[in-house]
Amino acid sequence: MMGTKERCFRSLPEDISLEELVPKDNFYRRLEQRLDLSFVREMVEDRYAPSGRPSIDPEVFFRLQLVMFHEGIRSERELMRVVSDRLCVRWYVGYDLLEPLPDHSSLTRIRDRFGLSVFREFFERIVEECVEAGLVWGEELYFDATKVDANASLDSIAPRFYVEEHLGELFAEQELLSPQQEVSAAAAEGWDESPVAELHELPSAEDETLVKSNAAKDDWISRNGRQRREQKGVWYRRKADFLASKTDPDSSPMKRRESKGSHLGYYDHYVVDGGKARIILNALVTPFEVTENQPMLDLLWRTSFRWKLHPRQLTGDTAYGTTENIAALELAGIRAYVPLTGAGKARPYFSKEEFTYDPERDLYQCPAGEILRPKTFTAAREHIVYKAEPGTCGSCPLKPQCTENKSGRQVLRHRDERYVDRVKGYRGTFAYEKALRKRRVWVEPQFAEAKDWHGLRRFRLRGSEKVNIEALLIAAGQNIKRLVAARDRGPHKLAQAAALRPPDPVSRYRSQLTGRRPFGSRTGRISTGCKAPTASVRVLWSSVRASPPLPTPGGGAATGPASPTARGAGRRPPTCRTPRASPAMKIPFLPPRVCRRARRGGRWEACQSCPSAAVGGDLPAPIARR
Ligand code: SF4
Repeated sequence: MMGTKERCFRSLPEDISLEELVPKDNFYRRLEQRLDLSFVREMVEDRYAPSGRPSIDPEVFFRLQLVMFHEGIRSERELMRVVSDRLCVRWYVGYDLLEPLPDHSSLTRIRDRFGLSVFREFFERIVEECVEAGLVWGEELYFDATKVDANASLDSIAPRFYVEEHLGELFAEQELLSPQQEVSAAAAEGWDESPVAELHELPSAEDETLVKSNAAKDDWISRNGRQRREQKGVWYRRKADFLASKTDPDSSPMKRRESKGSHLGYYDHYVVDGGKARIILNALVTPFEVTENQPMLDLLWRTSFRWKLHPRQLTGDTAYGTTENIAALELAGIRAYVPLTGAGKARPYFSKEEFTYDPERDLYQCPAGEILRPKTFTAAREHIVYKAEPGTCGSCPLKPQCTENKSGRQVLRHRDERYVDRVKGYRGTFAYEKALRKRRVWVEPQFAEAKDWHGLRRFRLRGSEKVNIEALLIAAGQNIKRLVAARDRGPHKLAQAAALRPPDPVSRYRSQLTGRRPFGSRTGRISTGCKAPTASVRVLWSSVRASPPLPTPGGGAATGPASPTARGAGRRPPTCRTPRASPAMKIPFLPPRVCRRARRGGRWEACQSCPSAAVGGDLPAPIARR
């Protein structure tokens, strides 16, 4: 029998709360449990005035951005519709059933107010969480880039000078006030005694040293991926130097393999860790005209410096295998596992590979057995030109297979080509072949995931800065998915995790506090398949184990009861009653992985309210929380 559903809605009883309506195993509950976003308040503190009407909580803003990522939503208006409908999302954002939600237009204004630097910092804090959770290996890095359509039509293309003039008129810079005018304006508004007046004491634009050092600081990340238009090619001119889109002037025309015709687009570059979790360590969006090899070194140095990594190998596709990149990697002691192009193979003549180079005598031997010596040096391309003696090629029977040049065949060799020769030697080795196979399943599925599930097929925002914000949020969201799915394993590299935090003498004794066995001691291997600890790591661990216990605040050695998790005599219980920092630092917190309270509630406040804390009266006041 066919049933009939009565549509009957009664008002909810007053004692039901949203907390009870959201299922216990809901994804957003796990996300809330795993990721504490309270750090964003501190991150954006300087973006707000000290007084005035309270804004939307920045933590709520970032929660909404994560909801947008996880739900695959492409507009703020749609996002707020979903938040108002979905109980679990309302719960995650922190708004009660009948509480009015923020307006969608506020989210756009907040995003503009924060700017790209805040979103990059947010992304880096998420990577930091991944490092602390032991998801980053750091021994191998994988580079790749994917094409992403811009939110602009090819019909919007016009001559660049016209577009730039038009945009210049639209967004003309306001005339800046002189310092004297600013002081008088501040006095008129009653701000002359505020800290604003002290800002003039800070380094200014007249500080020549500062100007010089800032001018010298120029890389793809600091330029937000923008092209250097002032640099012109020697042999060709870029099409994007003449044409620009009126809708998105930072995008450039690109061809897609699967579709006919051109589109406007960008390249989204990823640096992915070689560990099992495949954490994205860096992301950058550049216009499509910027080839993959150009920002590679900037991304590598930034990634290595920021996360204190020293990778032993780097893998990328053919596009990354330029001589400049290979030389820089090999000089830094990083193995460049990149396939080489084999230039000239498509031509009907002998390829360069068929000429044998003698490094001792610095000459080439051609297939006919003749010697080619260095003749000239091309400074623009840093190439040395090798040629046979005049008349040799003219009388050679192999000349039809070698060249049609009347003056004979010439072979070009880059100044740093010895490093390329070394990379050629990697071919066929097990590690090289494994790295190239691994690249296909390490980075490319990340792009597929971002495109199929999280809207990376086409950017919804426009302009270099905003598309970078969008890409960083997607990359951060992908890392968060892995963070939520990961078990609580702890860092693989204790030194690395400790270095990301302020100085903390307790971290040296972490194994004693937690009862956890030191790095790799159980099986000799860790779950990502990285090698067993080196001899120096084993020596370090032996010294930590052999070192005397920490003194108690009273002055004597610790003699408290052993923790249920502590194994063996001499181990420290997991308590806050140990001195947690040098008196000069006045940092009384345990590493967040040890202190659960600190992890959940913010360090100062948690320690002050914690019954186990040995905090003194000289500590600063706790940070005010909502
Ligand atoms: S043409 Fe010149 S370089 Fe080529 S094989 Fe003959 S001698 Fe050698």
